[in-house]
Amino acid sequence: MSRFWSSLTHDLRPYVPGEQPRMAELVKLNTNESPFGPSPRVLEAIRGEAADTLRLYPDPQATALRAALATYHQVLPEQVFVGNGSDEVLAHAFAALLKHEAPLLFPDITYSFYPVYCRLFGIAWEAVPLDEAMQIRIADYRRRAGPIIIANPNAPTGIALSRAEIVTLLEAHPDAPVVIDEAYVDFGAETAIPLVASHSNLLVVQTMSKSRALAGLRVGYAIGDADLIEAITRVKDSFNSYPLGRPVQAGAIASLQDEAYFQQGRARVIAGRERLNRGLIRIGFDVLPSFANFVFARHPAHAGAAITAALRQRAVIVRHFQAPRISDYLRITVGTDEQIGRLLSALSDILGSRS
Ligand SMILES: *Cc1c(COP(=O)(O)O)cnc(C)c1O
Repeated sequence: MSRFWSSLTHDLRPYVPGEQPRMAELVKLNTNESPFGPSPRVLEAIRGEAADTLRLYPDPQATALRAALATYHQVLPEQVFVGNGSDEVLAHAFAALLKHEAPLLFPDITYSFYPVYCRLFGIAWEAVPLDEAMQIRIADYRRRAGPIIIANPNAPTGIALSRAEIVTLLEAHPDAPVVIDEAYVDFGAETAIPLVASHSNLLVVQTMSKSRALAGLRVGYAIGDADLIEAITRVKDSFNSYPLGRPVQAGAIASLQDEAYFQQGRARVIAGRERLNRGLIRIGFDVLPSFANFVFARHPAHAGAAITAALRQRAVIVRHFQAPRISDYLRITVGTDEQIGRLLSALSDILGSRS
């Protein structure tokens, strides 16, 4: 703290991302990265941009990438916004769309970045509790019509809403923007993108970080009515005109062009998730039904913090949130078969040594 800080800075409570430790032989299952590398075509495209042209600014509108995303998702380029990771896209959406007279609504248990953006942008919010099964109940959002943001599948539970439930939500709030954060949608949930055509209040946010194994590239995007996209673009152009560099734009386009690699990667993660589920249940965990590349699980007899610490001693890192309602849960990223095996044997070891 310093007398030079602005009052805004004093009041911030920054998001704390999962750690990126540098330990050898680590089983790193704490930040929902892909255990498989990106498509070789992505690497080739990035290498192609490691050239003299790097002295020139990139296309500020990312025209080719937006066109590729529009084709991929069957929308118009003016319905697509791209940013430096979906975190940046979300930040711009908060500033551009989610500040209203009525408070912003989101679940009490969700992506912990949402309240961070609210503080940064001075947005009032209300947390809507998940039900006892840790599910979002759409009916609970029938209150004063402020904007809404929901992660679908939700984080860190992994539980998904159906597209029909999203329709109900959109139709109950026709006069407020509704943002659906689909960071994990490619692992089995239904995307809301087809609803964009009929719902001018819907903004869908996706990322290449998880299902496309490109967390290090930083590419996120939003799809919505052209008026919503224009709003976010105005904020972006008031902040940073060139959020995506040349190698990033090229790599992202190449990822969209390698559909076979993408499909294979997500199928492997889904298969790994089912293996991880079964293994955890076998050793006594309660596991929430996940549609993501992670599972959220707790053991009835062991505290979440204690298991997390014991795993750490065995060089297995998972995510634990010291927060109300979820402090007994572990969020475990789906790894390779080998990593899942090492996690499960470390857990058996830990649970066995206590009894
Ligand atoms: C990972 C994640 C993001 C951010 O992803 P980026 O890497 O910034 O694209 C956004 N929302 C949720 C719910 C996430 O889990």
